[in-house]
Amino acid sequence: MGDLEGFRYSGLIERYRDRLPVDKDSKIISLSEGDTPLIRLDNLMGEIGHDIQLYAKFEGANPTGSFKDRGMTMAVTQAANEGAQAIICASTGNTSASAAAYAARAGIKAFVIIPEGKIALGKLAQAMIQGAIVLQIEGNFDDGMQIVKDIADVAPVKIVNSVNPYRLQGQKTASFEIIDALGRAPDYHALPVGNAGNISAYWAGFCEYAAKQPVQEYRRAGESEPFAYKFAPVVDSVPVICGYQAELANPFVQREMIVEPETIATAIRIGRPQSWEFAWAAHDESGGWFDSLSDHEILQAQALLAEREGLFCEPASAISVGGILRDIRRGKIADGSVITATLTGHGLKDPDTAIQQCKTSPLSVSANVDSVKRAILDNL
Ligand SMILES: *Cc1c(COP(=O)(O)O)cnc(C)c1O
Repeated sequence: MGDLEGFRYSGLIERYRDRLPVDKDSKIISLSEGDTPLIRLDNLMGEIGHDIQLYAKFEGANPTGSFKDRGMTMAVTQAANEGAQAIICASTGNTSASAAAYAARAGIKAFVIIPEGKIALGKLAQAMIQGAIVLQIEGNFDDGMQIVKDIADVAPVKIVNSVNPYRLQGQKTASFEIIDALGRAPDYHALPVGNAGNISAYWAGFCEYAAKQPVQEYRRAGESEPFAYKFAPVVDSVPVICGYQAELANPFVQREMIVEPETIATAIRIGRPQSWEFAWAAHDESGGWFDSLSDHEILQAQALLAEREGLFCEPASAISVGGILRDIRRGKIADGSVITATLTGHGLKDPDTAIQQCKTSPLSVSANVDSVKRAILDNL
């Protein structure tokens, strides 16, 4: 065997460095995030009976189990190289888990503000064991977000929510990976929308690979030149962007902020999204749409992905596939289309919700071969 060193994947900053605002001599804070699988969902599409290819970008395969790692490697690399001693974020859970991990790696402190009782236990466990200082507030994500935006002026902490432009720069690499894997741009891309950073980042990434007029976000991350013009187009098209929200937490569908958002999909229980303008740009420029699903539909989609495709994602993630399948059935998607959908986080983050909706419980059998054999024959 030759020298394997050249083949070792070491994170999305190394892979896409020329397209990211990272100084040449910066020390990179990475957990080898990115390079997540793009999985073709042929079982689901076979049942629907349309000539459409549907792929899931499984972001649960990132080191802390959600796409937040893509943005966090950038934001924490930047913060650490600026000499920051601490970072802070408001979080529905996954941002705090990711911030805690990258802060640990960088040897700096992470403060995370979470809504009391409204984050999945797995995410809280991650933040705590990785040494974050967890500040629980009697309020929701939006209240926490407001505090975080105000605190940076009065305390020595760096915000790592997606209002930090480095986050979106890291997250745009998911679009690059999709195109690199497919060898073309998808026709449609579906994803959940909460604070709306991710939809903005995906759109930025898709535009960049098509060398299309970039959205505003590009110019904010420490670059005076619009990024896209530095590179020849990799592809000649961009996808239609389809953003899905929970029925009672759907400000983009209502076209106005929501004061008391509510949904079982806690990762997208957000009423006042920060990336409002960028998300509308993605919607308008791509000719896309926003729609909402009930909690029941969200859980159905989560179960469907698990049962039919062996993919266990968290409820918020399943909304992308639930939404796009509904739109395929409604005839909104042309035959022959290639669709990609982001599954934003791993199902293991929130086992309680999963177990509660399982129709079966473990079968009790005696500890002998006969009993197990009977159970097998009864259930084949
Ligand atoms: C953060 C998150 C979202 C929402 O992403 P935004 O960028 O806030 O729109 C969706 N799903 C999961 C699992 C998340 O952690």
